[in-house]
Amino acid sequence: MNASHSPRIYLDHNATAPLRPEARDAVIAALDLLGNPSSVHQEGRRVRAIVDDARDKIAKLINAKPAELVFTSGATEANCWALSALANGTRKRIAISAVEHESVRVSASKLASENPEASSWTLETVPVDSAGIIKLADFGREPAILALQHANNETGVCQPLSEAVQFANELGSKIHCDAVQSAGRIKTDFRALGVATMSLSAHKMGGPKGVGALVIREGINLPPLVPGGGQERGRRGGTENVAAIAGFGAAAEAALRDREKANDVAAVRDHLETELVKRYPHLVIIGKEADRLPNTSCFAMPGQAAETLVIKLDLAGIAVSSGAACSSGKVGQSHVLQAMNLPPAIANSAIRVSIGTETTRDDIQTFLNAWKVIQQESDLAA
Ligand code: PMP
Repeated sequence: MNASHSPRIYLDHNATAPLRPEARDAVIAALDLLGNPSSVHQEGRRVRAIVDDARDKIAKLINAKPAELVFTSGATEANCWALSALANGTRKRIAISAVEHESVRVSASKLASENPEASSWTLETVPVDSAGIIKLADFGREPAILALQHANNETGVCQPLSEAVQFANELGSKIHCDAVQSAGRIKTDFRALGVATMSLSAHKMGGPKGVGALVIREGINLPPLVPGGGQERGRRGGTENVAAIAGFGAAAEAALRDREKANDVAAVRDHLETELVKRYPHLVIIGKEADRLPNTSCFAMPGQAAETLVIKLDLAGIAVSSGAACSSGKVGQSHVLQAMNLPPAIANSAIRVSIGTETTRDDIQTFLNAWKVIQQESDLAA
């Protein structure tokens, strides 16, 4: 196969999804508009309307009130803000699931280590079972905050959020939910879930990179992320990134429409898994027994180095990931797979394929063909 002449196949939507045409159009249209959304004149009001319209569309996607949304530079910022801002009161304990995104893990441990005195916060990491589901019964003392993601970026495994919220309510704890991977892919209902805060990222649903939101339940007053300026109802000062926000809004609207296609996406993913297991009986599908995102498959050929497979697939024109362990180009053990207690031979071989509505069975066939060649090469080398 001559990779330079064949179109590349992108199977890494959980890292970032392709920009939707609607989002691109909205970004470009907004870039050309003069006006500061805080200005009272016509130019200002026109761009203010764009921000408001985007806020409405995103709020609709997750069933929140528009006023509950605060735009941020992305979910890393939203996670970091939520955890530090919710950390008030006398019960100085934070709990996070063992499979949270790095931005949650680092923010939580910073909170716990910032003040190494007796009065400082303690951090509890709540274990998950072998399917990646939080063990709600395994809590130590009741935390003030529990950070629990909706769906995992590496495995697609979804957490029992409603159950966790009920549990947290009984303990008097607040839940922060990282819904980056679920919003726009599966039903993510902020109101019905009843979490205190929720983080979102535009680029996982086909919006531009570098914009997201923290959704804060009405009635919860958090200290501002950036004081001054008065934007975002005084919660995050600074002139709004109007073009990015416009793209986020358009992506949210399109993602809501596309949620109808979730079963088709799952069918393509299931086809991949069925074919893989049929051809390679010792291949392990990680998290298969759990409720998963329709677009994600994480699997391993025990003993084969994931990084080598990712590079070989890349050379064959296919973009996949070896999991979030590879973030910023550094390769390490995945804390998610470790927390699921997978043996190193499986965890170090895990490949993540994450697809979108545009992924076809032909794309999967191309993946399977490339996979077969790679396996034959590795058999020859053995
Ligand atoms: N949480 C999860 C579960 C993610 O997958 C990501 C992105 N990899 C983030 C948070 C961070 O999002 P952003 O890129 O918007 O900072």
